[in-house]
Amino acid sequence: MDEEPQRLPVRAFIGLGSNIGDRCATLRSARAALDELPGTTTIAFSPMIETEAVVRPGAPPQAPYLNAAAQLETSLGPRALLDALLDIERDRGRDRADAERWTPRTLDLDLLLYGEQIINEPGLTVPHPHMHEREFVLAPLASIAPDALHPVLKRTVGEMLESVRSRSGASMPESGSPG
Ligand code: ATP
Ligand code: CA
Ligand code: CA
Repeated sequence: MDEEPQRLPVRAFIGLGSNIGDRCATLRSARAALDELPGTTTIAFSPMIETEAVVRPGAPPQAPYLNAAAQLETSLGPRALLDALLDIERDRGRDRADAERWTPRTLDLDLLLYGEQIINEPGLTVPHPHMHEREFVLAPLASIAPDALHPVLKRTVGEMLESVRSRSGASMPESGSPG
């Protein structure tokens, strides 16, 4: 929020998810909200896919998610963009009262890639630290940007999706433990 807008627009990718309420309407309204951010245009929006919820080991099952990905062109800096995403989540009724990750939510917006920048700050890690291991993130993303590059792993979205799928052997939402 306290950041100056950047001059040159950057290509950023957002992962969207919803598993409470009218998931489709929520994702559509999030898409509209992204497009209305200052200095920002939505260049592409993936089809929505339904995926099994990932829960903490031992936690009760959750309703399935609807996931999607968006490609933005934005002159917002990464921190301003993240703050705007959190505002959109809040406006759509996201309740962070329990401060837990991986809980059911009306809307989750993750900043997956911000150009090819690598950011490791308190509260902001880009590329998103789990994107490369989540089929529910990579599948929608690959439908709009198979050639987008992960600047740390030096692999494209299409390549990462292929590895996740070959590792799981089937359509598993994710490997690894909650972070
Ligand atoms: P995960 O991050 O594993 O997908 P989650 O989406 O459930 O879990 P949240 O509770 O939505 O996690 O986010 C917790 C915090 O993560 C946010 O408040 C935000 O500050 C921080 N965060 C760090 N990097 C990112 C990023 N790239 N995109 C979104 N949030 C991020
Ligand atoms: Ca998430
Ligand atoms: Ca999130």
